[in-house]
Amino acid sequence: MTDVIQLLPDHVANQIAAGEVVQRPASVVKELMENAIDAQASHVKLIVKDSGRTLIQVVDNGKGMSVTDARLCFERHATSKIQTAEDLFNLHTKGFRGEALASIAAIAHIDITTKREEDEIATHIKIEGSEVLSQEATAAPNGTSLAVKNLFYNVPARRNFLKSNQVELRHIIDEFQRVALVHPDIRFSFFHNGSDLFELPVSSFRQRIVAVFGNKTNEKLVPVSENTEIVTINGFVVKPEFSKKSRGSQFFFVNGRFIKSSYLHHAVKSAFEGLLPVGSHPGYFIYLDVPTESIDINIHPTKTEVKFEDEHSLYAIIRSAVKHSLGQFNIAPILDFDRNPGLDTQYSQRNSTPSSPKISVDSSFNPFDTNKSYIPKKPNPEGWEHLYEGLDVDLPQQTETIETSLFEDSQDRPVATTFQLQRKYIVSTIRSGMVLIHQQRAHQRILYEYFLSLISTDSSPSQSLLFPLVLSYSKKEVIMLQEFRVTLEHLGFSFGVFEDETIEIKGIHSSLTESTVSEVFDTFLSNLSKDIPDNGFSLNDRLAKILAQCAGIKSGESLDGVSQEGLVNDLFACKEPDRSPYGKPVFTTLTPDEIEKKLDA
Ligand code: ADP
Ligand code: MG
Repeated sequence: MTDVIQLLPDHVANQIAAGEVVQRPASVVKELMENAIDAQASHVKLIVKDSGRTLIQVVDNGKGMSVTDARLCFERHATSKIQTAEDLFNLHTKGFRGEALASIAAIAHIDITTKREEDEIATHIKIEGSEVLSQEATAAPNGTSLAVKNLFYNVPARRNFLKSNQVELRHIIDEFQRVALVHPDIRFSFFHNGSDLFELPVSSFRQRIVAVFGNKTNEKLVPVSENTEIVTINGFVVKPEFSKKSRGSQFFFVNGRFIKSSYLHHAVKSAFEGLLPVGSHPGYFIYLDVPTESIDINIHPTKTEVKFEDEHSLYAIIRSAVKHSLGQFNIAPILDFDRNPGLDTQYSQRNSTPSSPKISVDSSFNPFDTNKSYIPKKPNPEGWEHLYEGLDVDLPQQTETIETSLFEDSQDRPVATTFQLQRKYIVSTIRSGMVLIHQQRAHQRILYEYFLSLISTDSSPSQSLLFPLVLSYSKKEVIMLQEFRVTLEHLGFSFGVFEDETIEIKGIHSSLTESTVSEVFDTFLSNLSKDIPDNGFSLNDRLAKILAQCAGIKSGESLDGVSQEGLVNDLFACKEPDRSPYGKPVFTTLTPDEIEKKLDA
């Protein structure tokens, strides 16, 4: 047999390498921005169109390239940043593998113009799929402008796997922010489809964090710093009372590079122990500087994972530094998460005479008001039949009268057919015994099906607020909420202006209260950042669940007879009454047989 092995041509090898380096438009953004920073630019401009599908361009005022270098930089293993393998342990640049540009050029159309200060004229080169189409001398300012067009034009599989524009844009914003957060000494601008998303002037670390995450961030930050032989720590943690349910603001930077490390994350988390409410995550921006020889950056193609020489000591130092600053800023003693903020006297009311207590319910809202029921009043026998599953009952006889005879005394109600147990369960008698309903889950199920149905209709039962509600978010969060504006409007929200860092809410669904609105949005945002849903269906589903969860009756609420009955009726008119939207059982039944068995024992 003849030999079968052959060396792959360069452009094929480059395409293969691109699979690792360039997963999506955001990866290109990262590589180009890092190159601009390595070229010592003081202003880096990112221009993106269609979430990077048609254009990703980075313009810098860095040191530029010679004519030869401008050609060479697209070759594989072409780098100016290291020369020997030892240099890997003395890195001061972001790049060093010399494969980013070669990879990108293999799967896109490239347009580069670059000029060094010492040269009279600039070089302009066009490349398509690793092939140089043209090269010419031109006039241009010092620095480099590199445009990547039609990404994945020759890799349909990759192109098809791209997510929606919104999702890809979110990834791009993430990469942009990660780079911008660690270089406050560099000015960054970011334009998307012609409008400017970020303009970040040269500033301090703290100002940069605030510029990226919004003005409200400033008061939330507590500085952390520590200086030891193996690491210098600088940065900030977010005060525990501002911790969120999302993992949004958790950033480690090592020697100027954003990294992910669950081990170091754990160090911070453990420093927060006892200070965070259940389900909340600490926020932090921690900048570590370690000796270059004590860290291996070359273990991952995108370099977001690194290996430390002395991870254990690092863990201990970070943990104690964070603990120290939380303690020093007196964070710990003032925390009291169980306190009901509703019990605090508002500043504006401090001096007024307290009036006699009123029950704080929204009197306009009664989920069981028959005039504005959440669900069609007509009972759904399919739902009811679940009740009789496995029970020894005479079903045919019941189905005839099912519309009225679920309850023993349905003819002449209200005889007490329901009562509440421990403010948590509704107990009701049914023909075949007894049913015990978990009130919180039941109401979530009712509202969930109701909200789902609202999303797909055009009616929006909005209730205007007397005073518009203005909520503050980071720019990225405002962009995320903006994407769902239409869906949210279907759900009864009516909005005023969406600004840089605030959104104005003019109306909400009548089942929500003003105080639950921010809970709804916070939960939704944190839900989005956990894993990114891509199709409208699952997203609507999440929204409906979140609304049901926030607006629903909770365990511990006392319900009067009418509400109890309404809840039972509405529940069994649901399509799937036996499970909460989160899959938990909603009710259980007890038959006379079972009761007898228990009593005979
Ligand atoms: P690496 O960054 O790992 O060296 P790249 O493929 O990203 O590999 O870049 C190859 C080389 O091209 C770099 O080492 C650098 O010399 C040059 N280069 C890339 N981008 C720029 C830029 N914006 N300004 C100046 N030189 C650049
Ligand atoms: Mg590079």
